[in-house]
Amino acid sequence: MSVDPALSSLAKPIESRQPWPRPACPSCQIGYIGFSAPAEDEGHDSASAHSHIAFEPEWISGTFVVRGQCENPDCQQAVHGTGDYRVDYSQKSIDGEFEYQGSSYSSYYTITHLHPPMLMMPIPKSAPDEVRDGVLRASRVLFADPGLASTALRATVERFLTAEGISATGSAGQFRNAHERIKEWRDADASRPQVADLLFAVKWLGNAGTHEDSDLTTIEVLDGARVLDEAFHRLFTGPDIDAHAQTINAAKGPSR
Ligand SMILES: [Zn+2]
Repeated sequence: MSVDPALSSLAKPIESRQPWPRPACPSCQIGYIGFSAPAEDEGHDSASAHSHIAFEPEWISGTFVVRGQCENPDCQQAVHGTGDYRVDYSQKSIDGEFEYQGSSYSSYYTITHLHPPMLMMPIPKSAPDEVRDGVLRASRVLFADPGLASTALRATVERFLTAEGISATGSAGQFRNAHERIKEWRDADASRPQVADLLFAVKWLGNAGTHEDSDLTTIEVLDGARVLDEAFHRLFTGPDIDAHAQTINAAKGPSR
């Protein structure tokens, strides 16, 4: 399990008449979400411009809604999406949505919200609840506000440190920064420096996203999620599997 590549595809404009990405269902995590064709609502300014003498299809824009559903018959979780669209020359859809003066045009849909949110990364079973909450929080704003999502990922690292007993405050009661806390966690065990480097990377992305003029993209946040996913894998999934192997070894067979 890793970060769902369908999320990166959903972060890019999707051309009309092209198949939509199929992200893993956030409810059952077995099925995939299949989306139907979006319904467009052209903006008022855009609609008014059609009668302009210099009108071109590239002037058309508006909002859209799209409905998805989990393809697992035992789940059928509904997903509702919304965002903005604009019209431009067709790229992949050769028979574009419509022709204008001999050229083919398509709509391009940019998702800003999906509800319920797609899970940004799988959460290992033995991860503490604080970590689970942090990933859910980041997932909710992944498309709407990538800077905020990266801040929430950094906060997930901080929640992990708190769960590990690394104090959030110094001796005088002042808040300690994430960098100092990761260092303390790293230096407490000789096996930790490599994972600490991954946590530092998530922290740097979070810092970049927190700035008021942040231009972090959803794709960059997903790259950060990939780094955090690898850290989680080494921290939780490895030990989960080790523990399971121990129970098999102890039972000299499947542990029932
Ligand atoms: Zn499902």
